[in-house]
Amino acid sequence: MTDRILMSSPDVGEVEERFLVEAFRSGWIAPLGPDVDAFEREVAERVGVRHAAALASGTAALHLGLLTLGVRPGDVVVTSTMTFAATANAIVYTGAQPYFVDSEPAGGNMDPALLERALTELTASGARVAAVVPVDLLGKAADYTRILPIAERFGVPVLSDAAEALGASHAGAPAGSFGAASALSFNGNKIMTTSGGGMLLTDDADIASRVRYLSTQARQPAVHYEHTEVGYNYRLSNLLAALGRAQLTRLDEMIGRRRAVREVYRALVADVDGVEIFGGADDAEDNCWLTSVVVDPELTGWTAADLRTALDAANIESRPLWKPMHLQAVFADAPALLNGNAQRLFETGLTLPSGSALSEKQIARTADALDAFLGAHV
Ligand SMILES: *Cc1c(COP(=O)(O)O)cnc(C)c1O
Repeated sequence: MTDRILMSSPDVGEVEERFLVEAFRSGWIAPLGPDVDAFEREVAERVGVRHAAALASGTAALHLGLLTLGVRPGDVVVTSTMTFAATANAIVYTGAQPYFVDSEPAGGNMDPALLERALTELTASGARVAAVVPVDLLGKAADYTRILPIAERFGVPVLSDAAEALGASHAGAPAGSFGAASALSFNGNKIMTTSGGGMLLTDDADIASRVRYLSTQARQPAVHYEHTEVGYNYRLSNLLAALGRAQLTRLDEMIGRRRAVREVYRALVADVDGVEIFGGADDAEDNCWLTSVVVDPELTGWTAADLRTALDAANIESRPLWKPMHLQAVFADAPALLNGNAQRLFETGLTLPSGSALSEKQIARTADALDAFLGAHV
């Protein structure tokens, strides 16, 4: 049996090993240290923001971002239905109610016109909308040019979920630099990894220091550990920050490799009626974290699920796009403003192996399997 080809495995090697061993030998094990400070500086510089707080996960960054923006139990937080569950979970942690907004047809990101309608209706109903959380889906930044002025008009702060989008940009500005604050993830499958980790980015010094304080058990400056409010143990460790610093030196190279994989798929489906690269017509600013195809079965005569079955038989992993939050049992009761796009993308999209750690041989094997399937179904 051939090795299974995975969608997005960690891409680590000698550089990562060297940074990690150096941090270990420096003695900064427990748990903060100079690599955390340097990692924060380097990511902040890369994204062009003033402050960064390294945290245990992207979910922790979203949670503390929401708390710091003033989200309280009973508030409403408007987010994209087309996302990973962590976005909605973080909203629920605060006691607020998630409200899901559907997608633009092509890129799958939050539809700004629907957001405007949602804010209009929520405001009219007397709800307190405490934040808007757009999500940069699969490495394509949301349309902040339209979203930010809408949120501002309603006086609602924006927390950007840029967990999938480090290295991407929108209208020339880096993903992670939009809104009052944003969240990055360094989970094992993301564009770069700290094995597990995340970061809160902001230009606001008060937000940054409050996130640091809440993430280290909300300790008042007293030798006996004085506490006046509930805190969290959400900080990133120094060893993992060292891994992140190594990955950051390779970020552009890794993005380049993911883009090259996308180009292989693009060439294969270019002449196939009814198959398109998801969000691909306009992807110059994407980080190409994951590449998906969208299949119109009326034109192809086969479905995304048929392709998934064929790839699986060749021991190649592929997956539907995120199942929208409004279709998840856990969020079935949450209010939502829908146009059908997220559900359609979920039903017709398939994400293909996209990782920067894929070998030339694995890329060729995946391309051959895709090509064979397309050839057998003309
Ligand atoms: C991965 C991801 C998260 C959560 O990040 P973790 O580091 O896994 O907690 C949040 N939002 C989106 C959109 C993600 O893809």
